[in-house]
Amino acid sequence: MIQETLPVGMLQCNCTILGDETSREAIVIDPGDDIPSIQAVLNRHGLTVKSIVITHAHIDHIAGAQRLKKLTGAPIFYNENDLPLVKMMDVQAGWLGLSTPPEVAPPDAALTNGQKISAGALHGIVLHTPGHTQGSICLYLPKQSLLVAGDTLFAGSIGRTDLPGGDGPQLIRSIHNQLLTLPDEIKVIPGHGPSTTIGEERETNPFL
Ligand SMILES: [Zn+2]
Repeated sequence: MIQETLPVGMLQCNCTILGDETSREAIVIDPGDDIPSIQAVLNRHGLTVKSIVITHAHIDHIAGAQRLKKLTGAPIFYNENDLPLVKMMDVQAGWLGLSTPPEVAPPDAALTNGQKISAGALHGIVLHTPGHTQGSICLYLPKQSLLVAGDTLFAGSIGRTDLPGGDGPQLIRSIHNQLLTLPDEIKVIPGHGPSTTIGEERETNPFL
């Protein structure tokens, strides 16, 4: 598998590119900004984007999605419980002192728990993990022992729950029921900051 994670935008959201080496098909997760840098990685590996997956509709994760869709033709997927956040993109921009992204739209198809997202031989399973936002999802690739966790779980921390749609007890439940049930060796790529493993967080994360 080709895997590249690059921090994009002011908040350094981790955009992750997963590519199948044989078919050269790819999934791009959270193209929040810096689309030319993402495009450069895709070009360097000769990848064709099949799916754009948004872990949740916070501006730093979703703002570049339509631009990447225009360049690649790939559909955008996210959970519809985050549509209220999409409708308040101007408010989200205000939190950060940014200008409102010109194009943020409802998903081309909604993501639900257990849904499969594939690119060539890569198969991801959508885990719905509400708490940071109501539509937050993680993408789990069992064969690659990889979890792309969005802002649900971080190395040594968890997502904030003080923004609209956040729910602390629900976030803890999601992590316990959907993520800590995965094997220890699963590598976790969070929405911000360094990667970790399920085992490491199970052992040492003070919030769990
Ligand atoms: Zn977020």
